[in-house]
Amino acid sequence: MNVIEVKKLRKAYGSTVAVDNISFNVQKGEIFCIVGPNGAGKSTTVESIMGLRQPDGGSIRVLGLDPQKREHELRQRIGIQLQQAALPERLKVWEALNLYSSFYDKIVSWEKLLADWGLTEKRTTNFKNLSGGQKQRLFIALALLNDPELVFLDELTTGLDPQARHATWDAVRAIRDQGKTVVLLTHFMDEAEELADRIAIIDQGNVVALDTPGKLIQNLQAETRVRFTNYNGYDPQQLHTVSGVTDVEQRGKQVIVQGNGALLAHVATALAQHNVTPTDLRVEQADLEDVFLALTGRSIRN
Ligand code: ADP
Repeated sequence: MNVIEVKKLRKAYGSTVAVDNISFNVQKGEIFCIVGPNGAGKSTTVESIMGLRQPDGGSIRVLGLDPQKREHELRQRIGIQLQQAALPERLKVWEALNLYSSFYDKIVSWEKLLADWGLTEKRTTNFKNLSGGQKQRLFIALALLNDPELVFLDELTTGLDPQARHATWDAVRAIRDQGKTVVLLTHFMDEAEELADRIAIIDQGNVVALDTPGKLIQNLQAETRVRFTNYNGYDPQQLHTVSGVTDVEQRGKQVIVQGNGALLAHVATALAQHNVTPTDLRVEQADLEDVFLALTGRSIRN
């Protein structure tokens, strides 16, 4: 069953085309990631899905309803994680829950929500005194207050340290495991690779790829990359004569060899013939950053 159906969505702001032609479906119970660089059109797409923006063209159905006409009803059934700046610094955790409870016809028990998200001890703490991870967990708890069928999470882990990021990822999986559908917006490819059941990669207002993380990487048929540290002053450009090698690059002491076939074996043999035996000789797997680069010719980071 499709929880969201977007067909040929288009939205421009004056002469800026934010969304050119976007279509995708989100299935019940999946974590669907929308990834793309800043300015790709992710927020405009999601705001249109939530009924906050009026599209110039195309059609949208959310839980079978038209968000332009049924925004109030959808609000009751959808959870939306707020951005950091959305809460006053001195608001206490319980006051935030109280405030957001007033928006909904029906809410879940606060006790359970606070316990689920490790915030029971923090119920009387001011928002500004929560750690980054606790703030993020509060935003997730607020998004789940109305026991939504569908949850939108936007740039969830920006500014979190690695430990808090991993904890947040576990939390997102827990939401899906409760049977809810999760739509996650991110510009972090590792986050999408880690969490997504399916990923839509958006660039310049269009979907450039849509699949599972595994299939996206598999379809890339990327060249293999072999890397090692060159301590011996060996000239790596000699590797151009090795079978399958298409490119050799040295950055500092790091040598990166691109190519096809049994690249690792061929490079190892060639190095051994020159008495070069690096202990860290290894194959690097392609990842979603490589997928984006291959699809757009640009790195997602810039
Ligand atoms: P993303 O969420 O992927 O960063 P956005 O949907 O926010 O992308 O933006 C897509 C494009 O539309 C960008 O060029 C952005 O500057 C522009 N844009 C977004 N919102 C507005 C707005 N309210 N007015 C004018 N231009 C906007």
